[in-house]
Amino acid sequence: MGNQTAVVTGGSRGIGRAICVALAREGINIVTCYAKGSAAAEETIAICKGYGVQAVAVQADVAVQADVERLFAEALKLTGTIEILVNNAGITRDGLLIRMSDDDFDQVIDTNLKGAFYCMRAASKLMMKKRYGRIVTISSVVGLIGNAGQVNYAGSKAGVIGMTKSLAKELGSRNVTANAVAPGFITTDMTEALPETVKEQMAKQIPLGRMGKPEDVAEAVVFLVSDRASYITGQVLNVDGGMAG
Ligand code: NDP
Repeated sequence: MGNQTAVVTGGSRGIGRAICVALAREGINIVTCYAKGSAAAEETIAICKGYGVQAVAVQADVAVQADVERLFAEALKLTGTIEILVNNAGITRDGLLIRMSDDDFDQVIDTNLKGAFYCMRAASKLMMKKRYGRIVTISSVVGLIGNAGQVNYAGSKAGVIGMTKSLAKELGSRNVTANAVAPGFITTDMTEALPETVKEQMAKQIPLGRMGKPEDVAEAVVFLVSDRASYITGQVLNVDGGMAG
C-alpha cells in the first residue's frame, strides 16, 4: 500500500491517532488535522515519521468549509495526490432531548455530519479524476441502535451511514469505494469522561466483555483501504465486541 497518501481527520488523539499510525506502518503518507491539540497532533506525526513516511498535521476545523479546503490543499502539497480519506473527527454534546439546546445539536451535526460531507466532497473530486480512491467514515454503534442522551450524536452517526451508502453508488463506476466503520465503546478521551458506573454498565452490554482499543478500530480501517477490500463498498463494518448484534 506504499506511495499512497491518506487524509485522516482528528488524528491528534484516540482512534484517529491509532488510524494514522496503523496506516503509516503500511507505508502510507499521512495528512491529519486537529481542532486544538497541536502538541498531541505533532506526537502523532512523530510516530508516523518513525515508519519512514511523510506526515504532516494541520489545524483545521472540519465544520468550517474553508478549513477543509486548506487541509486538502496542504495534503496535495505533500505528495500531490490523495488516495485515502478517513473521516474520523467527531464530538459529543450529550443530554436528553427535552433539555438539548440548539447549540449542542448544531455543534455535533456540524462537526460529525457536515464535516464528513465537506471532506467527502473535496476527496471525491480528486479521486474521481484519478479513478481510484478509498473513503472510510467512522460512524458508531449508536448510529445503528441509538442511545438515550445522544439524539444529536446518533443522528449524525446514522447520517454518515446514509451518506456512505449513497457515495458508494455515486462513485463505484470510478473505482472509488466508500465504507463506514461502526465502533462500539472504545477506550479514548471521549469515553474516559464517563462515570465509572456508566462504563461498568456499558461493559455488561458487550458480548466480548471488554471495551475496545483504538487499535481495534484502526485494523478495520487498514483492511477497508487495502487491495484485499477492493470489492467491498457501501458497507458498515461493526467493531463493537458484538454489541449491535
Ligand atoms: P477523541 O475525543 O479522543 O478525539 C477526537 C479527535 O477529533 C481529536 O483528534 C480532535 O482534535 C478531533 N476533532 C474534534 N473536533 C474536530 C473538529 N471540529 N475539527 C477537526 N478535528 C476535530 O475521540 P475518539 O477517538 O474517541 O473518536 C474518534 C471518532 O470515533 C469520532 O468520530 C467518534 O464519534 C467515533 N467513535 C468513538 C467511539 C468511542 O467509544 N470512543 C465509539 C464510536 C465512534 P483535538 O485534539 O484538537 O480536540
